[in-house]
Amino acid sequence: MLFRSLAAAAALLAVCTPVAAQDLDLRAQVAAFIQPTNAARTDVVVAQIRAAGFTPAVEAFAGGTERSGPMEGRNVVFTIGEGEREILLTAHYDAVKLRDGTMSHGVVDNAASVVGVIEAAKILRTKTLNHRIRVILFDQEELGLIGAKKWIEAHGLTNVAAVVNSDVAAYGDTMMYGQNNGAQSAAVTRAVQAVCSERALQCVGYPAYPPSDDRAFSAAGAPVVSLGFQDQIGAHQMWLAFNGGEANGLTEGFVPQVFQRIHSNDDVIAHVDPATIRLVGDTYAAVVQRLDADLAGVD
Ligand SMILES: [Zn+2]
Repeated sequence: MLFRSLAAAAALLAVCTPVAAQDLDLRAQVAAFIQPTNAARTDVVVAQIRAAGFTPAVEAFAGGTERSGPMEGRNVVFTIGEGEREILLTAHYDAVKLRDGTMSHGVVDNAASVVGVIEAAKILRTKTLNHRIRVILFDQEELGLIGAKKWIEAHGLTNVAAVVNSDVAAYGDTMMYGQNNGAQSAAVTRAVQAVCSERALQCVGYPAYPPSDDRAFSAAGAPVVSLGFQDQIGAHQMWLAFNGGEANGLTEGFVPQVFQRIHSNDDVIAHVDPATIRLVGDTYAAVVQRLDADLAGVD
């Protein structure tokens, strides 16, 4: 009975919680990425960066794989502030092509991150920083981190002090961070943990974490972290699935919910919570600020 009453109370609270107009806008922004092609998604990311008051540059590259054949890709980039040394804030905007040949809606993976990163950029431009912030929205992550690799090839990492990447940040209040990006990334991990502590934010660190564009940077020796958001139970189930080994306690064949959603027909806007996107923007801005301060003398 207690559970039933609690559930009823929670349902009532959910109904009564007012949704701010700006939160509705964030969800609409994510929904705008539902497009028949990744080229159409490029136009959406460019338009949203402009609408936020930044100046995007489109950097085309020769991409594609053996399987896809040659395919032009387009990274979308903008910067905040000045400084020779840079902190990169990154997320991929491309969606995966599903087995039936249609495009995933690509909202949980990864339009919500893109909108969250733009929100973080809006906060960061109001701050005085030691580093220039370069926001990069990558194309062709789903084909094998191609956009990130091509960006590194074209620009090098000489001026890159640290990289903060986001992949899958659409719902839940628990921040996930990978801890498998090499010893050079310890200061980035420390900055993430400091922000979790300062904000009393529930965070889960993963010794083994699913790959995203962060791997292109860590392979090239850059200090980097990959962040995401999820609900608490999903985050811990994912920890067990990736790090628990054979004694992880999960039912045989168990697949964490997020992996049933992404890269499937179920990566839909109903799973995107605008409150999470707001939290993503605030938290990523705090992580970048912390890094900016921590690395100011060290660089
Ligand atoms: Zn992704």
